[in-house]
Amino acid sequence: MKLLKELYMTNGVSGKEGDISNIVERELDLMKIDYEIDAHGQIYRIVEDNPLLCAHMDQVQSDSPDIVIYDRGEIFGSNKKGKSIGLGADDKNGIWICLNLLRLYPDLSFIFSTEEEMGGNSGILLRELQPESRFALVFDRKGGSDIVATFNSYCEDDMIDDILDVSDEFEMGFKEAIGTFSDCDHLSKYIPCVNISCGYHNAHSHVEHTVLAELRNSLKLGELIISELGENYYGRPQINVFDTIDDLTSIGGKRETKSAYTGWYKGARSYYETKTSSNKTQKKQIAYESYDVGSWTTCYECGQEYHETDRDEGGLCPFCGAMEYISISRYEEPTVKG
Ligand SMILES: [Zn+2]
Ligand SMILES: [Zn+2]
Repeated sequence: MKLLKELYMTNGVSGKEGDISNIVERELDLMKIDYEIDAHGQIYRIVEDNPLLCAHMDQVQSDSPDIVIYDRGEIFGSNKKGKSIGLGADDKNGIWICLNLLRLYPDLSFIFSTEEEMGGNSGILLRELQPESRFALVFDRKGGSDIVATFNSYCEDDMIDDILDVSDEFEMGFKEAIGTFSDCDHLSKYIPCVNISCGYHNAHSHVEHTVLAELRNSLKLGELIISELGENYYGRPQINVFDTIDDLTSIGGKRETKSAYTGWYKGARSYYETKTSSNKTQKKQIAYESYDVGSWTTCYECGQEYHETDRDEGGLCPFCGAMEYISISRYEEPTVKG
């Protein structure tokens, strides 16, 4: 757990991932695994025909804990004065899992991506490389039992069915879920992929923490997927949520699904602002409209849905007092690139 603790205590706020990438490079060097670094600071290696692992090196919090505490199965962070500090376990848990999987399977392809919390750069890399990979595993989902797959058009039924079979066979308890924005939104344009829970909770907040058993369970699932399914090819997803603006607005218009996309809107907005070339103004405008609809949220703790204007001071759920994920209204304007 030494590496995990070091990752938690090192800050990699979006755009300043250097200290995290130094750790990743050091670990890859120790394993004698070759890699390249692209213009966006992403660490990658593509081995044709092998499965691809992906986790992002940036985090939302601009500070990191001085002290990492393990208590009754959960890991928390704090500063020297005892104030809670988020771990950045989104997505350091994913980095830790990918590095551990590379220790077991050193021939896998991998991308340690940058600025995922701002819309992500892994798509740019894949567009250039057009890799021939069997499938990709992203470890960047909250909680301990979700696999984001066909509901987000990341893969077809063949892939998720096989993975759930593995989970059932080894009694790991994973189920399919709807997810927010992740690197899968980029990767799935080129490779079928899934986003797997990696044990973090209350992401983006100062009370972010990790459930250690869930983190270990995700690593185990990763191991099993590679060992049981690593030789398989899977169908490419037919529709991607980013492919048409209609998809974006239709998701934004549905009250029952939009809360699941709270974080996704944030990603979508910076994505559309920075990555679209044609019809830029119109797309930007539509993206903003659906973004505004997304101010409803579901409390992860009690399951109640509430509007951001009903939020308690300090971003707490008005029903149960639980801390909610960073709200859209408090999200800082992303810097528009280019
Ligand atoms: Zn993440
Ligand atoms: Zn995040």
